[in-house]
Amino acid sequence: MSGNNRILFVGSECFPLIKTGGLADVMGALPLALESYDVDVLTLLPGFPAIKKGLKSAKKVGTLPAIAGGNVTLMKGTSSTGQEILVADAPHLFDFEGNPYLDARGEDRKDNGPRYAAFAKIAADVAQGLAFKWKADVVHAHDWQAGLTAAYLSLAKGKKPRTVFTIHNLAFQGLFPKRLLSSIGLPEHMFSQDGLEYWDKISFLKAGIVYSDVVTTVSPTYAREIQTDEGGMGLGGLLKKLNHKLHGIANGIDTETWDPFSDPALPEPYSARRVAGKKAAKKALQERFGLDPASKGPLFGVISRLTDQKGLDLVAGALPHIVGNDAQLVVLGSGDKNLEQAFMDSAKQHPGIVGTFIGYDETLAHQVQAGSDVILVPSRFEPCGLTQLCAMRYGSIPLVARVGGLADTVIDASAAALKHGQGTGIQFSPVGFDQLITALDRAMSLYQTEKTWVQIRRNGMKEDVSWAQPAAAYHSLYQ
Ligand code: ADP
Repeated sequence: MSGNNRILFVGSECFPLIKTGGLADVMGALPLALESYDVDVLTLLPGFPAIKKGLKSAKKVGTLPAIAGGNVTLMKGTSSTGQEILVADAPHLFDFEGNPYLDARGEDRKDNGPRYAAFAKIAADVAQGLAFKWKADVVHAHDWQAGLTAAYLSLAKGKKPRTVFTIHNLAFQGLFPKRLLSSIGLPEHMFSQDGLEYWDKISFLKAGIVYSDVVTTVSPTYAREIQTDEGGMGLGGLLKKLNHKLHGIANGIDTETWDPFSDPALPEPYSARRVAGKKAAKKALQERFGLDPASKGPLFGVISRLTDQKGLDLVAGALPHIVGNDAQLVVLGSGDKNLEQAFMDSAKQHPGIVGTFIGYDETLAHQVQAGSDVILVPSRFEPCGLTQLCAMRYGSIPLVARVGGLADTVIDASAAALKHGQGTGIQFSPVGFDQLITALDRAMSLYQTEKTWVQIRRNGMKEDVSWAQPAAAYHSLYQ
């Protein structure tokens, strides 16, 4: 048995209990992948109604009094995937439905600062055994919502757990006014350049970076990009200075949830060896969106938050090019209202060619992955990206911007790569309209060369996109 075998995961979302993006996928899959090691992982989540509802065999295991003006009950149970979950049940903090960070208008919720500061305080207390008889050897906190955990732990006396902090997206920094500091119980001296101060505000993300023993981010290329002025979003210099403790580990995906051979959302099972069922998935997707089944070109799919980061304005701009080349497009996403409108309009203007679903739909995400020929991920920056991994698993060819984790996880099917039997997708760089058009043309022309297409698809389907390798890397970090 190793020394560091009790790990407390701390984060604000976790698949399948609650999810707004890739963070939830990681929180829901990495702890399960770590089960094959000699570690005992407990995942702490805020007591949102959706999480409490999804928890099985929940039992009260402890309490913490007077956290942000109320008591916290710690409930332990399991998720439907068998993950051990600890829920911080605190109605005064977490009793609301919907997006955990944004209100119905898409604005940051008013109390995010005190709410997630309290969540981090709860995590620090639980980790030290103050809520019940279980102490963590390592606390692994994720993103700004859990960023203050290491700051609170740094103030604790005596033997304390080591801390790992993972940046899933540097763009979300958790910035709050300075006046919050005293009300969340942090001392004035922390509000400095070497502490959690960021341009006269408190940065929860910076706190995680500064006060943790180890910082990771979700791909090696993103780990390099965030140490630059261009990619560092104001924290580049700090991350460069601290690069001795910064590690880039690319995410995997849950290959059980994402398995075209056993996926209940698909009309027929298929796999790398028996790929015929993918045709049925394309037909079903075309039917669902009323697309012409006689189209001779590839079906491009998008499953994404519709935001500036994801570069989908470029796809909206490229629509005439897709439509004019007998290709098709299905978009599943939500976010920026202008982009939502642009894709809804284009579905109206091009019936039979473009299909749009605005919203969040897990089952449809599986169907788009399976029914598309190409999945588009033209992100301006992308810490890791998961949709390109799902695409490979589902035999759809990822067409991606060569940034961050997209650069690390997709091998461009260049002539040289193909000559050596390599290539899992199409990359383009820099991220611009002309480059996207060229990449779309490459995809459309490769699609007409069946032998090459089949080879790229097979290469992708054979890639190990599971959590096995990343879990091994995290496990050795914990040690
Ligand atoms: P990010 O976390 O930046 O949004 P990732 O690629 O890391 O991007 O993860 C996105 C996750 O959310 C993937 O699992 C993807 O399938 C899923 N997803 C994104 N948008 C939707 C949607 N509209 N409906 C269903 N799933 C979605």
